[in-house]
Amino acid sequence: MHTYTPLKRYLDKKTILVTGAGDGIGKQAALHYGQYGATVILLGKTVSKLESVYDEIINNGGNEPAIVPLDLKGASAKHYRDMASTINDQFGYLDGLLHNASVLGHLGPFAHISEEDWQDVFQVNVTSQFLMTQALLPVLKKAPHSSVIFTTSSVGLKGRAYWGPYSISKFATQGMMQILADEYDNSNIRFNCINPGGTKTAMRAKAFPAESSDHLKTPKEIMSLYLYLMDQEKSTENGQTFEAQPK
Ligand code: NDP
Repeated sequence: MHTYTPLKRYLDKKTILVTGAGDGIGKQAALHYGQYGATVILLGKTVSKLESVYDEIINNGGNEPAIVPLDLKGASAKHYRDMASTINDQFGYLDGLLHNASVLGHLGPFAHISEEDWQDVFQVNVTSQFLMTQALLPVLKKAPHSSVIFTTSSVGLKGRAYWGPYSISKFATQGMMQILADEYDNSNIRFNCINPGGTKTAMRAKAFPAESSDHLKTPKEIMSLYLYLMDQEKSTENGQTFEAQPK
């Protein structure tokens, strides 16, 4: 496991946007960033889940978060431009962006992948990240230092039978991160990827319905790397893929 002990309020005065902040790994990342002093922008599909994360951050003494209810499946470039403009008006710039939301789609043989499933998975897992990152680059550039974290998977590092569009979308995510890291090398923005590894969430249960989850780490147990990569003093890496649970 990655180990890093952050200073108590090391994210004070930082603004961090987390996608898929209502559940699973994204929820824990949002709670942790809030706990360490950041103002968190909670983006996700189900408003009630975002509201409960909002309440938890406030109850833990964190700054008031912002809520952005957005279904990445239907969002257009204009949605992201409007969001960037609101962030610019409210905060001036953005210090951190965690691209965490994604969908699994249907697992099955390549020969049976439907065009609809392909489009849905690519819309949420790839196209939304492209449009959102492009729209947010100006506010990320305005921060003294900013960190963009993408989320990959073991099947985004090595293809595996029956993982179809999800696996291919994670290869695309890695490619996007590497291109951005290269284009913005020596700038104020760093781009990296995290592979969380098998983690006890709804997505994992959907992918492995017959599995006992007893051996799996919880999202809370893998937060060290998520915290480290947002530390602008300690973390200088760019263009790398990190394992939250190295073998
Ligand atoms: P969950 O399914 O538990 O959570 C996914 C989050 O993404 C939810 O908050 C969900 O919101 C949000 N989301 C899904 N679709 C949309 C959409 N169309 N618009 C907006 N938000 C959406 O997944 P995990 O926490 O397990 O996964 C987090 C990341 O980690 C993903 O990128 C996943 O691929 C990756 N990963 C996870 C592993 C694991 O073992 N758990 C292993 C390897 C990688 P809502 O609840 O409202 O639908």
